[in-house]
Amino acid sequence: MAPITKECDYLVIGGGSGGLASARRASGQWGAKTIAIESNRLGGTCVNVGCVPKKVTWNAAAIAETLDHAKSYGFSIKQTAPFDWPTFTKKRADYVKRLNGIYDRNLEKDHVEWLHGRAYLHSKNEVEVQLHDGGNQTIHAKKILIATGGHPNIPNTPGADLGITSDGFFELEQQPKKAALVGAGYIAVEMAGMFHHLGTETHLFIRHDSFLRTFDPLVQEKIMSEYERQGIIIHRNSAQSKVEKHPSKPGFLNLHYSDTTTKDGVLEIDCLLWAIGRSPEVEDLHLDKIGIKTDPKGHIVADDYQNTSIDNIYALGDVCGKIELTPVAIAAGRKLANRLFGGEAHKDDHLDYTNIPSVVFAHPEVGSIGLTEPAAKEKYGENEVKVYETSFTAMYYAMMEKQEEKAPSSFKLICVGNEEKVVGLHILGEGCSEMLQGFGVAVKMGATKKDFDNCVAIHPTSAEELVTLK
Ligand SMILES: Cc1cc2nc3c(=O)[nH]c(=O)nc-3n(C[C@H](O)[C@H](O)[C@H](O)COP(=O)(O)OP(=O)(O)OC[C@H]3O[C@@H](n4cnc5c(N)ncnc54)[C@H](O)[C@@H]3O)c2cc1C
Repeated sequence: MAPITKECDYLVIGGGSGGLASARRASGQWGAKTIAIESNRLGGTCVNVGCVPKKVTWNAAAIAETLDHAKSYGFSIKQTAPFDWPTFTKKRADYVKRLNGIYDRNLEKDHVEWLHGRAYLHSKNEVEVQLHDGGNQTIHAKKILIATGGHPNIPNTPGADLGITSDGFFELEQQPKKAALVGAGYIAVEMAGMFHHLGTETHLFIRHDSFLRTFDPLVQEKIMSEYERQGIIIHRNSAQSKVEKHPSKPGFLNLHYSDTTTKDGVLEIDCLLWAIGRSPEVEDLHLDKIGIKTDPKGHIVADDYQNTSIDNIYALGDVCGKIELTPVAIAAGRKLANRLFGGEAHKDDHLDYTNIPSVVFAHPEVGSIGLTEPAAKEKYGENEVKVYETSFTAMYYAMMEKQEEKAPSSFKLICVGNEEKVVGLHILGEGCSEMLQGFGVAVKMGATKKDFDNCVAIHPTSAEELVTLK
């Protein structure tokens, strides 16, 4: 083993959302000598190939929608050229690069040393880092955090590597003319929406009858039918048997598939995107050498306090696979640093994983917190659950001539018991991603239906429908 070259109180493996938040809190606020190790780019998935470039692209798609709507409001807008994908993606990459720089400076401000390299565990206190620029370092740490995130999966289908994943979506230099996306989770649904609104013919292949299957049935039904109304082609109950290069069209692929209506289909596409799930990034950490427990999917098992099965080694964020969202990783990271280094006042700090709001940047947006209707009924019993629901057309669409041009809005409130405590809130429609945050506070505080009713409506908004539900 190489001699120890550095020592610290806290060693963080992974410079993504969770790792950096924890490192900065430990060092900047509590003065722990902290080293962070990142093998790729600072900011991890969220900044480089996740939330940030995704939201910027969603904004572009939303502008495309608005341009379509503008004529109904009396504007005579004529686009003189198709969407300029190369310019847009270059600007987006520059923005992400600026954020990488801000992350770097923030680490410096909080006195976190960071090493660019790949880390693996030697023992419960020792980590070896293969430095990006060559050479190795061995670091002795009193406490180690594993926050190495995850990576997208590719199936075993023959020719699957001719496709890309969500990572590759952000590297596309040209806009595809015709794309096939495989997957039914939020990443597939979001990327299908973005492609479609930016002008790509979009096919979405799902394994079952609907997508977003962990969301409330209301969300599944409404977004599925809205996507089809908009022109996204959804292939239900589908499977892919083979992918091959198109024999005569350079840059094109033939995707061999079956779905509800087609047995031996072949789709000619110039982009195939797999969004079939993610796996934890643990392969080369040597977890088994140290005896760190993982679950059957490879996620590191951590308790409510982010303790792993080995003393003084902690894990959080996507690598644990609990709720794979940036703010969850950040909050868990900060709480852990408080608990480890913040003294007596913080000795019980840990993240409460219940009632975490989440959003799908679909078209329209979806917001969700708490239990779905089926989950609430299963937990509390059918008779204890009361559901309030409304569907309406947002005033934004008042100027559109045809009913079928108007995207739906639907809200559902799931309440339990005599006091009608709100245990689930599911909303879709214009502005729902922004709307959810405030309502999330109310649900987290244990609001009842009466509390919602007691809040005077803001008119005219869509959100007012949530405080006037009958
Ligand atoms: C397309 C997409 C869209 C998303 N959109 C949203 C969204 O809108 N909102 C939201 O909240 N979440 C979103 N997410 C999820 C979010 O990005 C993750 O939940 C979040 O980034 C998890 O943070 P993390 O710190 O656990 O891991 P990551 O951010 O993945 O960071 C882990 C880091 O560890 C590094 N690493 C791995 N192994 C090693 C090693 N051995 N040595 C050194 N470094 C290592 C990796 O390079 C990586 O930078 C999205 C994800 C994707 C893929």
